[in-house]
Amino acid sequence: MNYNYHTHTPLCAHASGTPEEYIINAIENGMEYMGFSDHMPFICANKNQSGYRVPYDKGKLYCDEIKKLALKYKDKIDIKVGFEMEYYPENFKEMLKNARDFGAEYLILGEHFICDESVNGHYSSKDTEDIDLFKTYVDNICQGIKTGVYTYIAHPDMFNFVGDKEIYREQMRRICKVSKEYDIPLEINFLGIRTNRIYPNRKFLEVAAEEQSPIVFGLDAHSTEDSYDGESLKKAMDIVNELGLNYIGRPKIISIK
Ligand SMILES: [Zn+2]
Ligand SMILES: [Zn+2]
Repeated sequence: MNYNYHTHTPLCAHASGTPEEYIINAIENGMEYMGFSDHMPFICANKNQSGYRVPYDKGKLYCDEIKKLALKYKDKIDIKVGFEMEYYPENFKEMLKNARDFGAEYLILGEHFICDESVNGHYSSKDTEDIDLFKTYVDNICQGIKTGVYTYIAHPDMFNFVGDKEIYREQMRRICKVSKEYDIPLEINFLGIRTNRIYPNRKFLEVAAEEQSPIVFGLDAHSTEDSYDGESLKKAMDIVNELGLNYIGRPKIISIK
């Protein structure tokens, strides 16, 4: 594995280490392609900003800083700057415009919430039997894929639907089918492997294998040591081989410039 397009920075307030430290560690471990994809700045309808995002007024600074580093290390590693961004139907156009204005080069889709990020909102990893919420999550990701601007889908299996297993498979199959049809990869998320989260979800990946959706890896690095992760790589390759997943290697970057 010589690529990773899922990297955070301390600007999102839940990561440690400097971007330059991440880059040096990645180079030392043989990485050749690296992308920063911190959480997209976003001001909600209630004028609040979620605490897990890069602050709105730091969006441009973040892109500028990574571009400077990309130049500094260009002979050793190819570095791109982008964002991990939800697909919220109502806000998509504005968010895409802002991402471009900040200077982002690419996007990955991470649907952490279902539109509403207030205390009343639903965090995708929180367990629920609510079918409507689950369908909205799936709808958003499918629509997001169809916009053609997202390079890949980060942790598509982060939604924690604990209801009927057949409904789970049926809904997740919609994501897998659209991913295959539009050739937009789904990520096996190494943060999930490292920290034993509910993703990667085997039931999800079984459906992805049946549909032969394109699969990529993402480190979801939140600290310097995470900018390479050989241990999770072994586990991820085991899952790929065991389930017969369509692992494609380095994703093709969709430029939003
Ligand atoms: Zn994420
Ligand atoms: Zn992430």
